[in-house]
Amino acid sequence: MDLEPVLTWWLLKEFTHIIDQANLLSDVMACETSTNKLVLINVMIFIWRARRKRIPVLIELDKRGIYMGSTQSPVCDDYLESIDHVLFLCSFAKDIWVRIFNWWGAILPPNLSFERLLDGAGQTISSPMTKDRWKAVIWIACYYIWHHRNEVVFNNINKGAAVVSNEIQIKSYEWIYNRSNKSCFDWLPWLSSPQAIGGPNANRCGIG
Ligand SMILES: [Zn+2]
Repeated sequence: MDLEPVLTWWLLKEFTHIIDQANLLSDVMACETSTNKLVLINVMIFIWRARRKRIPVLIELDKRGIYMGSTQSPVCDDYLESIDHVLFLCSFAKDIWVRIFNWWGAILPPNLSFERLLDGAGQTISSPMTKDRWKAVIWIACYYIWHHRNEVVFNNINKGAAVVSNEIQIKSYEWIYNRSNKSCFDWLPWLSSPQAIGGPNANRCGIG
């Protein structure tokens, strides 16, 4: 067995962990200006770093003189691995976004990016509360797409887009539920019509 690739990826995992710990405090302080009260702090930090290209994707490591044997996307092996590729352009990420947009009854726009998503691309939401939930789902989806990438790289586990998108639905419900008016936020409406919960045509708690 060739131990060199195993050792190299193990070192990358350790390196990533050390950098994460070292940057945690400063990033927590810095990302306070861009918060989303419906998601966990580690999701906020991830988004803050990703928007500033501070996630250890292979081309960013390569720019810093750390070559991992390839700069191709470990998920699709078709393109260079940038953060935009991982989160928006990779075939796996696109599959996730199609599912998320279908779930929310939204039209998936071309050329996705943080800016386009956070500007509400493809959405027609008018309720501020629903906008906050949509933004939380976007952030959580980015976080889980990156988590899936790491599962592929470090544990050789590829769960597929259907499973990961289901995890995003469950986790976003769990996190938003715990930070919302619980009596007005149920699982089945969340699965079937998340845009309609608490919207302008809704009754007191449920779906209009
Ligand atoms: Zn890819």
